[in-house]
Parts: sequence; C-alpha cells; structure tokens
Amino acid sequence: SKITDKIAALRPGEPFHSLEFFPPKTSMGFDNLEARLRRMARALRPLFVNVTWGAGGSTATKSLQLAEICQRQLDLTTCLHLTCTNMSQAVIDETLEAAKEIGIRNILALRGDPPRNEEYSNTPCDGTANGTSGREFEFAVDLVKYIREKHGDYFCIGVAAYPEGHVEGACPERQDSEFDLPFLIEKVKAGADFIMTQLFYDVEKYLLFEKRLREDASGVFKDLTIIPGLMPIQSFQMLKRISKLSGASVPLDLFKKLEDVKGDDENVKRVGVDIVSEIIEKIKSAQTQSLIGFHFYTLNLEKAVSFILERCNLIPLPEDEDVFEEIDGPIVNGM
Ligand code: FAD
Repeated sequence: SKITDKIAALRPGEPFHSLEFFPPKTSMGFDNLEARLRRMARALRPLFVNVTWGAGGSTATKSLQLAEICQRQLDLTTCLHLTCTNMSQAVIDETLEAAKEIGIRNILALRGDPPRNEEYSNTPCDGTANGTSGREFEFAVDLVKYIREKHGDYFCIGVAAYPEGHVEGACPERQDSEFDLPFLIEKVKAGADFIMTQLFYDVEKYLLFEKRLREDASGVFKDLTIIPGLMPIQSFQMLKRISKLSGASVPLDLFKKLEDVKGDDENVKRVGVDIVSEIIEKIKSAQTQSLIGFHFYTLNLEKAVSFILERCNLIPLPEDEDVFEEIDGPIVNGM
C-alpha cells in the first residue's frame, strides 16, 4: 500500500518509523540480510522499509531483488529509491514497471550523483549513452514530473530535503537550505507526497528547518509529512566520515562525548544510542506535526536502531492478530 495511506490510518499521536536497507553484493549477503530483515520486521514493526538505489543504476537488479524480498516475501510496505541522472529513460521505465509487478506503490525520487561533466565522460547523460534516445533528467524534480505524467497517482512519491542544505547547493563551503528551498517547493508542486530528510545530529537546526518549511509563504509544506532522517552512530571514524560526506554537522558537545570514548566502539555505540534517542525526544516534544515518524539509515545493522526504537517507545504494539497468534501458540502446543 501507499505510505501516505498508511500514515493517514494511524491513530492520532501514534508515532511511526521506517528502516532503510541497501542491497548486499553477494547471495550470501542477501541470505543474511533476509534473515535479519525478518527478525527486524517482527520485533520492530516499521511502517515501511526503504531500499536504496545505486547512482546511475549500478545496483538496479539487486535493488529490485531486495525490494521484492521486502514487499513480496516479507509483506513489508516498501519504498524503492530511484535516481535519475546518468540513467537512461529506458532503465527508469523498466524499473517502474518492475516495481509495479512486485507490488510496490512507493518511490523516493532522487537525483543521484550529478551528471558527469564533459571532461569526465564523452557520453551524454540523457540516455543516448546506451544508443537509445531519451528524456533528460537533470534534477529530482524531472523524475517526479515524469512519474506523475507516466503513472498518474499510482505511486506515492517521496523526495529528499536537507536540513543543513545540500552539500553542493550554493557552493561547497556555504551550504544553505535557503538555496535549495525553491527547488524543494518545485518538487512538492510537481507531485511529491512526502519529504524525507538527510541525516542530521543537530536537532536545533532540524527544528528550525522544519519550522521554516511549515511557515513558508508557498503553503506547500503546511500539512505535508516530513520525515526526519537519523543514522545510529556505529563508530567514531564512521561518524566523522558520514558527517563530512552528508554535510551534517555534529554539535561540539556531542562530538566531545563521543571523542571521550572513541577507542571503544561498544561505548561509542552506547553513547550514540543516547544521543539519537535525545534527538528523537526533542523532536517529539516540539510537536511540529500531528503525526510524527522517524526514518533510520540502518546501514543494514540491527542493534543500535533496535535500542533506539525501544528506548523511545517507537515500536508499535502488535496488531491483534499477532497477539492471538502468540497467546495461542503455547496453548495449542500444550494440548
Ligand atoms: P535535487 O532535488 O535535484 O537537488 C540537488 C541539488 O540541485 C540541490 O542543491 C538543489 O538545490 C539543486 N537544484 C535542484 N533543482 C535545481 C535547478 N532547477 N537549478 C539549479 N539547482 C537546482 N543517492 C543515491 O544514489 N541512492 C539512494 O538510494 C539515495 N537515497 C537517499 C535518500 C535520502 C533520504 C536522501 C536525503 C538522499 C539520498 N541519496 C541517494 C542522495 C541524493 O541522491 C543526493 O543527495 C543527490 O546529490 C541529490 O539528490 P536530490 O534528489 O536531493 O536532488
């Protein structure tokens, strides 16, 4: 089903969460991830899961394979990411058709890596690279428009937003969410149903960003679902790398807390769970929207996100059916 329908069906004040996974490289990796996904789905009950897409279509087959496992085998509402630059129109068409066949109703429409510059490649980025002519996709908005034109309302479409500005937005040394704003408005006007944000660790910056969107004169964000993106902290080195790559700043007090324990990954994870849980509690208490959800960049890992969800009471109660199943089990066995 569509994410927007599932969100609309939640009880007032009931929080939700989504979990993001990337396709493993090997078949053994797939087997391991499938087992882990099964466990996580049962224990954590995400409202939906996301499957990432390798820029330029580099993981096309594997992303679809993982999406099929999630949607069909595990019966999880799945959101397939799809990038549009360095991708032929034919690949986009095939992917959307394949997604439909699997039963997927949700797409996160992204730009992906910027188109290669002339110096780097002789092949144009508009699909002619494969000998097929095609439409040119320069920005995510082009993909949103294309999906709406071609598939109407069949897909629920999400788009990305950057609380601290996109890293290459204005100029590298001056990221600015104000620079991105007109383009984000365009994406929503073109038909996006929800926004999912880049990861962040500075909750004050996130809250300011959300407030800015809600109050924007365009009015397009007033009632739009905005899902903050969070990444559990796995190690000190990784945090530094991720922060640099994503342009997400780490407030000094948080950085110091982690630096104090940086040699010990288990301790870093534990402090990281505290940090991300505090971010969630702050967003919850700010009550900026009636329904509040959180997206987790899991990196295919299970532990830290499970602790965070548990700590923050983000795991929904099992549906009635499951409760009966669990109660029935031992009685039937004992008979
Ligand atoms: P856009 O919305 O097109 O914006 C990109 C930049 O261009 C912004 O700086 C924007 O301000 C600017 N811009 C937009 N329109 C115009 C215009 N008309 N004129 C001038 N400038 C403009 N990448 C992957 O490869 N695979 C994934 O699975 C993936 N998943 C992601 C999930 C989330 C939640 C997020 C936040 C990002 C994800 N990314 C993924 C990364 C994403 O592809 C990159 O951040 C990419 O560089 C930008 O994508 P976008 O969709 O935000 O682009």
